[in-house]
Amino acid sequence: MFTFAAIILLAFQNIRTQEGAKLFRAFDTLHFCLVSYSRIYEALQSCLLLLQISLPAANLENRNVLASSRMREDTYLQETRSMTESADILIIGGGVMGASIAYNLAKQGAGRIVLLERQAIGNGTTGRSGAIVRQHYSNDFTIRMARESLAVFQHFADLVGGDCGFVATGMVVLADETGREALRVNVQLQQEQGVNVQLIDGKTVSEVASGYSNEDIAVACYERDAGVADPMATTYCFAQRAREHGAAIREGVTVTHILKQQDRVRGVRTVEGDIYAPVVVLAANVWSRRLAQAVGINLPVTPTRHPMLALRRPNDFGGRQGLHPVGLDLTRKIYLRPDIGGITLIGSTEDVLAASDPDHYAEGLSPEEIAHLRNMAGGSIPALGRAVPRGGWAGIYDDTPDYHPILDHMHACEGLYCAVGFSGHGFKLSPVIGEWMARLILSGTKANDMQPFAYNRFEQGQEIQPRYPSGVLG
Ligand SMILES: Cc1cc2nc3c(=O)[nH]c(=O)nc-3n(C[C@H](O)[C@H](O)[C@H](O)COP(=O)(O)OP(=O)(O)OC[C@H]3O[C@@H](n4cnc5c(N)ncnc54)[C@H](O)[C@@H]3O)c2cc1C
Repeated sequence: MFTFAAIILLAFQNIRTQEGAKLFRAFDTLHFCLVSYSRIYEALQSCLLLLQISLPAANLENRNVLASSRMREDTYLQETRSMTESADILIIGGGVMGASIAYNLAKQGAGRIVLLERQAIGNGTTGRSGAIVRQHYSNDFTIRMARESLAVFQHFADLVGGDCGFVATGMVVLADETGREALRVNVQLQQEQGVNVQLIDGKTVSEVASGYSNEDIAVACYERDAGVADPMATTYCFAQRAREHGAAIREGVTVTHILKQQDRVRGVRTVEGDIYAPVVVLAANVWSRRLAQAVGINLPVTPTRHPMLALRRPNDFGGRQGLHPVGLDLTRKIYLRPDIGGITLIGSTEDVLAASDPDHYAEGLSPEEIAHLRNMAGGSIPALGRAVPRGGWAGIYDDTPDYHPILDHMHACEGLYCAVGFSGHGFKLSPVIGEWMARLILSGTKANDMQPFAYNRFEQGQEIQPRYPSGVLG
């Protein structure tokens, strides 16, 4: 086409009339357009070629995010992208803690808040939680913390908004003779803190908690207001309310690095680019450890694996709708959590010392684990000896040396805050954790009961001392 136009132009160059000159100018313009068109065409062709190469590469990278965020991080590090975004507060992790913190900050108008979750809201430990809500703790400050959080679960629709699935089932704690004294002291402490809990004779357990066996139980306590919630629904409610207050909740965005300049946090590097912020909150459970380490902070958090068995109760025990009281059987070292659909979830209260890789661990249960948990459950609630195992899963705890969380401002990296180390009992505390962290970030002050959860307590010999031998009981 270009050659054809050139020949016509040459022919018209010999025409000397006025019309001919006009015609010549018209074709001159046409010539210019054709040249420009051919250049644009060439440029478009180059772009298409590049897109053909890069589109499949981008799709492949997306799949790799789910398969291995580490691989994506490495890919990312080979790229250099410019700073494109900023926020006032960044939160890493979309579990119940990150969501509660985002909600509490956003409702106070704390500026532009962005929560970054590498998978989807609740896909970490929270989604695997038993979500038992109890006030049974062995230190006065943890009892108060649990009591305040319980009040939020009880009035969730009014205080936060939405349905967190809380049902007050009541809870029994069962002990043999060896556990009598610890239980007595703890119940007294709880009563002093205003918890509605009574110590009862082991022989009367089945009267307050129908279905439970009185056998081998020396002493028990009954906490009427305890219950269970839905961990996913709770987290979604917090996240949704945070959104309504202006926070951005971004799923599928992995944070690869915390950005630090001198002693201050500058923001984060993500697989989608860097985001500047003067405040970063690390609420990424066991995955926080590697991110913190890169900015010189050692979080003493060990990932440990904990199985949970789902049993279909025999239909003569509560049917599909019935919910029995929660049980903490200190003798058999299990907890029993009623779920809807005639299911009871059984977990172990035993501490696990061996560390697991939180990205590559056995998520299913072994036949031995199923048999053991089922046998133990049948001891606590005899009807469960006839229950059908309906699967189960294992989740990861983020254990600290004293099985209590670290809730603090990291002064080695000003502007960085941590809410990690919930050691298998954090869900029930999430409403208060959100409030405390928001207060610390916005006013620089800690609630009195937050003081014991300082980061430096381990090096200062001020570890929290739970009264029970099992860490998860707190
Ligand atoms: C089997 C089991 C039973 C439990 N039972 C109870 C119970 O009955 N009662 C109770 O109170 N507690 C219980 N817990 C503990 C409770 O579930 C946890 O303490 C709580 O859910 C922790 O919430 P989180 O937000 O800190 O962590 P998570 O829910 O794990 O959230 C952290 C999030 O960070 C994301 N993330 C990680 N790395 C990155 C990154 N680089 N970039 C972006 N995002 C990232 C993860 O994908 C994850 O979604 C149980 C836990 C388990 C495993």
